[in-house]
Amino acid sequence: MELREKIKALAQAALPLEYDAERRSTALEAVRDYAESFLETVAAKPVYTPDARDTADVLGLDEESASMSDALAILAEHVDQSGLNIRSSRYFAFIPSGGLYPAALGDFLGAAINRYTGVRFPAPGATRLERAMLRWLADEVGYPPGSEGDLTSGGSIANLSGIVAARRAHDIRARDVERAVVYMTRLTHHSVAKALGIAGLAECRTRFVPLDRSSRMEPAALEKAIVADHDTGLLPWLIVGTAGTTDLGTVDPLDQLADIAVQHDMWLHVDAAYGGAFALCEEGKRRLRGLDRSASLVLDPHKGFFLPYGSGVVLVRNGARLYEAYHARGSYMQDLQSVSFEADASTCDFSPELTRPFRGLRLWLPLKLIGLAPFRAALEEKLLLAEYFYDQIETFAGFEIGPRPDLSVVAFRYVPKRGDANEFNRRLADAIRNDGRIFLSTTTLDGVFTLRMAILCYHSHLEDVDIALQTIQEQARRLAGE
Ligand SMILES: *Cc1c(COP(=O)(O)O)cnc(C)c1O
Repeated sequence: MELREKIKALAQAALPLEYDAERRSTALEAVRDYAESFLETVAAKPVYTPDARDTADVLGLDEESASMSDALAILAEHVDQSGLNIRSSRYFAFIPSGGLYPAALGDFLGAAINRYTGVRFPAPGATRLERAMLRWLADEVGYPPGSEGDLTSGGSIANLSGIVAARRAHDIRARDVERAVVYMTRLTHHSVAKALGIAGLAECRTRFVPLDRSSRMEPAALEKAIVADHDTGLLPWLIVGTAGTTDLGTVDPLDQLADIAVQHDMWLHVDAAYGGAFALCEEGKRRLRGLDRSASLVLDPHKGFFLPYGSGVVLVRNGARLYEAYHARGSYMQDLQSVSFEADASTCDFSPELTRPFRGLRLWLPLKLIGLAPFRAALEEKLLLAEYFYDQIETFAGFEIGPRPDLSVVAFRYVPKRGDANEFNRRLADAIRNDGRIFLSTTTLDGVFTLRMAILCYHSHLEDVDIALQTIQEQARRLAGE
């Protein structure tokens, strides 16, 4: 009896875990109000706010409950004050993101209904929705029927997944690793090296294939390196091309890389985390020619599909390769129905994850509500905005600019009449940031400090690019003492 009483007392103490209709409704209203006041004021906020204080002490937890308004006040004051304003239309740094509102609603709904999307049996409809999203993406990039994929948390994990599938397909065992050769360039994203390390391939030989004058992988140099490595008894197996380098937005010659991969029986993995979304518009598709011939590719909906952070995609042309890399079962799963790859595979058959959020909903809801045409238009607009920026800055005295942009990143710098150019451009970048109207980021390539303008927010339009041009020109003139 004593045990029964104790259990009941504990149930009573745990009662606040239950949210009844009234609590749900007031909580949701408060959250909606918070989001509304954020979204209504965010455009007027600075693009960057430096961090001012250490607030770790107010972020701790108590045994007692707090009110929603207290919790939101902590969020407003201590979490949501400083840092980059990613939602600003004048945010042109790194690779911009979006934060489409319907995606937030998709996340909310996904968590509220909390379907188990790891396996098909508990959520057949959700599994079908996610597979339909992957099929649609495969169609957009030109992958044939039979390709498969996975919705991941981002591009880094998607790169890892593609590399694991490639390793399995080429049967690279531990004893082969030191003979195995991977080909990439100096502009390959660092997540690829990280993924090779995680996949146990850190001791593979890495060849950094030279770049041509437009900063794209040089196919002739790639082929030469592969032949030389074959001749010395090494095992060339993986080519990593990039469709939209982070530094410069350049697209490697994918068609030619695909030819070389076929000829030498290698796996071509294309990191299109940034550039892949441009396959949605005709002009982008032209610039990504050959993407459909890769063995695997990565794209990041939290970049070019303007979703909030937390969305990457890996696609594998021959879906069986992804299945072979990841299919596994435990006996405790015997009630979840046996599945065959052809008939009824589950998300976990193509993923290192088992339990995961219902990621498809944050992608499906915005695409469904908005329709595809506005996405295609926005992406083409970004390509043209980059061309416009390029054409304008080319006419500014003192500025040096590389080849025309492949996508929507433009790299440039100012060449001062006197003094160290790197030092000048470092100060120029600081001056632009302090000016506060726009936010840019920089990179250093072959020792040359370079500014970069990355245009990808869906709400960045012509007037924002004009403000960027004006800011850059004014600050450069001021620093040069003109
Ligand atoms: C952003 C990016 C990545 C990394 O993706 P995350 O989503 O940040 O993990 C990889 N490669 C390229 C080319 C990228 O632009």
